[in-house]
Amino acid sequence: MSQKSIRIIPLGGVEEIGKNLTVFEYEDDIIIVDCGTMFPSEDMPGVDLVLPDAAYLYKNADRIRGLFITHGHEDHIGAIPYILRNFVCPVYATELTKALIEFKLKEHMMDDKVKVTCVEPGDRVKAGCFTVEYIHTNHSFAGAAALAIHTPVGVIVHTGDFKIDFTPVDGGPCDLNRFAELGSKGVLALMSDSTNVLRPGYTMSEVTVGKSMEQYFNDAQGRKRIIIATFSSNIHRIQQIIDCAGRHDRKVCICGRSMTNICSIAVKIGKLNLPESMTVDVSNLKSVPPEKLVVITTGSQGEPMSGLSRMANDTHDRLKVGPNDMVIISATPIPGNEKMVSRTINSLCKKGCVVVYEDVHVSGHACKEELKLILSLTKPKYFIPVHGEYRHLMEHAMLAESLKIPHENVFIPAIGTVIELNKSKGKMKETVPSGEILVDGSGIGDVGNVVLRDRRLLAMDGLVIVIITMAAEEGVMLADPDVVSRGFVYMKESEVMISEVKRMVAEYVEGADLSDRDWNALKAGIKSMVHEYLWQQTKRSPMILPVIVEV
Ligand SMILES: [Zn+2]
Ligand SMILES: [Zn+2]
Repeated sequence: MSQKSIRIIPLGGVEEIGKNLTVFEYEDDIIIVDCGTMFPSEDMPGVDLVLPDAAYLYKNADRIRGLFITHGHEDHIGAIPYILRNFVCPVYATELTKALIEFKLKEHMMDDKVKVTCVEPGDRVKAGCFTVEYIHTNHSFAGAAALAIHTPVGVIVHTGDFKIDFTPVDGGPCDLNRFAELGSKGVLALMSDSTNVLRPGYTMSEVTVGKSMEQYFNDAQGRKRIIIATFSSNIHRIQQIIDCAGRHDRKVCICGRSMTNICSIAVKIGKLNLPESMTVDVSNLKSVPPEKLVVITTGSQGEPMSGLSRMANDTHDRLKVGPNDMVIISATPIPGNEKMVSRTINSLCKKGCVVVYEDVHVSGHACKEELKLILSLTKPKYFIPVHGEYRHLMEHAMLAESLKIPHENVFIPAIGTVIELNKSKGKMKETVPSGEILVDGSGIGDVGNVVLRDRRLLAMDGLVIVIITMAAEEGVMLADPDVVSRGFVYMKESEVMISEVKRMVAEYVEGADLSDRDWNALKAGIKSMVHEYLWQQTKRSPMILPVIVEV
């Protein structure tokens, strides 16, 4: 008799860092872990957000028993308001994560459709044949959790995003005991965070950031205003800054939309201690001497619309920076953001600010030795690296093999690949429909490859529109062709070339046989002729749009 298997299907979060979503399926029951978004890459002009393609879930909506969230970073919760439009299921998360999800749902006017239940480390939730247990870990998010998913074929441990911090700011160290306990009873599979697998050693404790922060506060004491940019969701980091400000008798101004939102949510649920008496509103900055002030803002990634970028570009309506400011960037650039960050740093330096970005950040993800520790404690039969680009997954797979997990028990998944496991064997199976869905404005999924190709073409070489006015009945041209262009050449300086295009088109239309009124053939002819001429003249290929106006 063949054994029944559990099917694990990552619909995002592998071969990429972002839009995490994993499906666990056993017979008639499905549970989901995380539901995140990703930022668009540079070849997606105009796109706001990227979601995982969850068509597989929509098709199996009646079998979904629950969505379990590991923590509240966007790559784990961002897609909830989009994907949960298409089916209803209970959502589980720890306290701060729950509050952030609810805030998001409210923004999308979905708060009465989706119910989020608060869970704590140690809690177990039954969902169909699964029981999902929350395990406390450390991460750059307060209340991050790993999951032990108890299934009919064994326990699957999913680390979520984690690191091991023995001296965290709050909440205690990662629950290594529980990982060890699960390991001693037998773990079927481990799915583990691969983000920092290329880094040797251990990730530093969050408290080290507080120590170097203290040093910089001493340097600025009595002389400079301090402006600190960091991730708005890193409540422990923000708490350390507030505590430091308190010790140095400085008031705190929280600045930037997402910073203000998350801080007020965290204060409300008691996860952030920011006494009212210490705060100054951004509209009231003049009431406090600059050297008695700390501004905490967004923009640690150089995002163009963020607080720090606007200060650097002099477009912030409340805050002007200059030689009396020390700016601390408490983050490292996420790969891809380096240029934007260095642009911001250069602008701030030009204004005379002291800019600090060394030793004021630690990662939220485990390095190699911590990953080895989790592998050794859980002793899984199968290993699946997740949360990484291919090179990270590959390295993590090799790390597992170096700890004596047999090669055939290690699976490097691609998006949509089904991994089927039971106690005696595991294998990669078919692929289910999967990929990415692009969000642009209020449109979800209506921007696809064709639209993106056009946008790229327009962005590179611009657009040339050729307008021809025809008498419909007679099939003759009524006026000289007109040419309009955008983003191609500066028309005023290219008059000769544009007149030549008009002349060629007129000649072409006059010479064409239009007895059958085949405008499409006429357009195609004009398009290739103009394309060839413009290429010869400029070595550019703008998009050419012939428009025939019948009157
Ligand atoms: Zn995270
Ligand atoms: Zn993540």
